[in-house]
Amino acid sequence: MPDEPPSVSRRRFLRDAAVGSGALLLGAAPTSLMAAAPSALRFPVSDHCDGRRFFNPRRHINRDWTEIIRWKLTSSPAPWPERVPITPVPPPPAPSGRDLVATWIGHSTYLLQSPLGNVITDPVFSERASPVGFAGPRRVHEPGIRFSDLPPLDLVVVSHDHYDHCDVATLERLALDHPKAVVVTPLNNGPILAAAGWAPQRIHELDWWESLALPGGIGAQITPARHWSNRATGARNGRLWGGCNLKFGDRGVHFVGDTGYDEFMFREIRQRCGAPDLALVPIGAYEPRWFMSEMHCNPAEAVQIHLDLGARLSAAKHWGTFQLTDESREAPVTALAAARTAAQLGAEAFRTLAPGESLRA
Ligand SMILES: [Zn+2]
Ligand SMILES: [Zn+2]
Repeated sequence: MPDEPPSVSRRRFLRDAAVGSGALLLGAAPTSLMAAAPSALRFPVSDHCDGRRFFNPRRHINRDWTEIIRWKLTSSPAPWPERVPITPVPPPPAPSGRDLVATWIGHSTYLLQSPLGNVITDPVFSERASPVGFAGPRRVHEPGIRFSDLPPLDLVVVSHDHYDHCDVATLERLALDHPKAVVVTPLNNGPILAAAGWAPQRIHELDWWESLALPGGIGAQITPARHWSNRATGARNGRLWGGCNLKFGDRGVHFVGDTGYDEFMFREIRQRCGAPDLALVPIGAYEPRWFMSEMHCNPAEAVQIHLDLGARLSAAKHWGTFQLTDESREAPVTALAAARTAAQLGAEAFRTLAPGESLRA
């Protein structure tokens, strides 16, 4: 396995690092920053970081503005419904014994309940996945559980800085209403949390493979994903992205971050973290493939990720809530069913849930 991306990509990173200004940190310095050498290198140099910017191991392809324009000029996005009516549900009762209960609230937001505590992933309760309230992708269904009905949370996972995963308005409400909760997130996303009102001691910024153990027995390990990062402020790829491997005692849940398929990555996660009881796997935002395949897997690749991880059970995320790309709202569900059949998996092995629907793992 090479330690750095191919030379063309490497030159691109060095060029970007030379001309980029880098994101300014707000709030308290994270431990990773304090540990860094007092030079231009702000983060540990690794197979996914040159010291200032992050990249994908083995290969990294940045889509530039000309490609975005080409996509928008040549695409014909399938129509989505304006609104999908749902009735929000109360959260399931707290599980007992070794049970885990996962409830899909929408997009990448899952509530995970266990006797050891409660976790929420990529919490987005806002009407839009956008830096502004008046434009940007709008949700087509209400959150499956109302924010005010959430049980007390112990851990919030924020996988990366994209607006459909890192929603400042929701994070501000969580910081106030769930004072026991801490947040785990990949390197350099901490300043966004600090700006959303999270005290420094509640923010745990981790590099890939670093982990956090909560006193109540929940463990969280940030894991690789094949993706990128960007917001209205800060440098492109100046904040790390990832997945999160969660442990609830001897039970495991793997939250796959936004990711393109990578034939090594998920097998390595299985080797290092163990096969999970439940994997939460993205299935949407994948068309057109020429543009999206480096950053978002399609349902067939999602099934391959399920197999690579050795997950006993998988549930879908990253579909059905916000229209981000060209496929129809139902296309990921149909394609997932076909991919399951091709892999000789039963419908129960990799499920799609309705907003507010739960499964027990
Ligand atoms: Zn993303
Ligand atoms: Zn996303």
